[in-house]
Amino acid sequence: MKKMVVLALALALVLAAATASANQADVVVIGAGGAGMAAAIQAADDGATVVVLEKMNYAGGNTVRSEGGMNAAGTVYQAAMGIEDSPEVMIEDTMVGGKNLSDPELVRFMAENSAATVDWLTGLGMDLSEVAQGAGATNARMHRSAGGAKIGGVLTPVLMKNLESRGITILYGTCATRLDTDESGAVTGVTATDKTGTEVSFTCNSVVLATGGFGANEEQFAAYRSDLKGFSTTNHPGATGDGIVMAQAIGAALVDMDQIQTNPTVEPVTHIVLSESVRGNGAIMVNVEGRRFVNEMLTRDVLSTAILEQPEKYAYLIFDKRIMDKMEALQQDYEMGIVTEGETPAALAQALGIPEDVFAAQVESWNQAVASENDAAFERTTGLGTLSDGPWYAIQVSPAVHYTMGGVKINTNTQVLREDGSAIANLYAAGEVTGGVHGGNRLGGNAVCDIMVFGRQAGMQAAANALAKGSLALELPQAEAQVEQAQGHYTDGVYQVEGAGRNGPMQVTVTVEGGNITDIVVDNHSETAAIFEAVQRDFIPAIIAAQSTQVDSVAGATMSCDGLKNAIDSVLK
Ligand code: ADP
Repeated sequence: MKKMVVLALALALVLAAATASANQADVVVIGAGGAGMAAAIQAADDGATVVVLEKMNYAGGNTVRSEGGMNAAGTVYQAAMGIEDSPEVMIEDTMVGGKNLSDPELVRFMAENSAATVDWLTGLGMDLSEVAQGAGATNARMHRSAGGAKIGGVLTPVLMKNLESRGITILYGTCATRLDTDESGAVTGVTATDKTGTEVSFTCNSVVLATGGFGANEEQFAAYRSDLKGFSTTNHPGATGDGIVMAQAIGAALVDMDQIQTNPTVEPVTHIVLSESVRGNGAIMVNVEGRRFVNEMLTRDVLSTAILEQPEKYAYLIFDKRIMDKMEALQQDYEMGIVTEGETPAALAQALGIPEDVFAAQVESWNQAVASENDAAFERTTGLGTLSDGPWYAIQVSPAVHYTMGGVKINTNTQVLREDGSAIANLYAAGEVTGGVHGGNRLGGNAVCDIMVFGRQAGMQAAANALAKGSLALELPQAEAQVEQAQGHYTDGVYQVEGAGRNGPMQVTVTVEGGNITDIVVDNHSETAAIFEAVQRDFIPAIIAAQSTQVDSVAGATMSCDGLKNAIDSVLK
């Protein structure tokens, strides 16, 4: 008995020592989205020790979902295509697009550093060689990979590889809950909750807040904008505004919190966003009566309002084979089963259940408008492209909360500011967690530009600030201890199991490593592509993040989610 007490005491002491051991780095980055990863790479390249805390069990945040591209002015790729553009024109477009609410200094910094940031990303292995026209942009400046794939899916792995090659650790499942400060109000570290629910503290000389926006937090966005109560979201589940709350708690000023962008063209079941470059290539929108109702190249807010004013509150995005062939992103959407097609405009109208003659006449009059470069009906002057190559295609679209323009106030050094304009020492922020760059409306392509330019700047500033105080050797929380504590929760192994889906059986492989569910792959299923995409994108990551099947089913895919839950439960038990 005595022996056991001694052993227990010894164990308690070891555990206490482990908990008390200093977790430290020069720079702690909170959030492994685009801004956080750019900051981490830059800070490491500038000589700082870095650790990234990520509350989800995967990186990428909203960044991985971004579609269109990265705006930049005066790039080598624009020059190669003979496109004349300049930071001045980009500034003007951004200010006008943002209803002149943006902070002009932040906008200038972004535009003037955009081309250099494209070069920086190219150096990291990112292909941004294709340039497209975006809505609200005077010149074509939306950069993306050749073939036009959705940018987030290309950029995120490139950034992750760069973290990996630099040996930068991302602590997954680690949710920052508090910014620690000294008596002067300067930030001294971060407190977080790890995978096991245990509180862990980090000491550092600089913190980069890169937690993204609050588009997935209905309570928070409806508090600032009651008219958006009940809106769906295109955001990933981690976009809950934590960084804004943590910064506000230590005195940060917030700006433009009621400026929330609803994306006009979101497919309602999968929440897939249809980039405006589809319209930039000539696509039009019609309502359920088969008629156009707006200049499709106007800004997102105007288009969202216009769609909600239509009967049924949705529209169809219409394009043809020429556009489909040109855009890999649309081909991916086709694979997902969200595209309706018809060999002729009348056949497409029939498939959609809208008036065939009205729709066919609408396509015809659009083509005439393109030919005469005179869209008398809606005065559209950009993205004029003929719709004449069958098959014709349509995707149903309606608005959802897409982007939160407001957030913590920063200066061009990414320092977080108080109401009185003073900077909170040692605290930097970049990306969607900040406000001021996009003012009253964000132009498509400006989000990736923002997170890359300011993410990189935050990394640079945070590293310089930290190193000026003397470097801290990297000491990470007991990553191993975390795994050990989790061990025994589930039994390690790779399990194959069959579950009942909505349309038939699903074969599922569940991987458990270190006691944690690390991967869930559906090898075979008969669900519709659209429903499966929603399950794949939202449900599976939520299970991995929660390490439990006790997560909400995806709206519209309840039966598929239930089938998957039961299958996984049978494995875990
Ligand atoms: P940005 O575009 O600004 O980079 P993202 O949405 O792409 O924003 O990424 C933000 C990341 O921050 C997401 O991966 C999200 O899960 C993570 N995050 C949000 N809140 C916290 C938190 N409290 N602790 C750790 N990570 C967080």
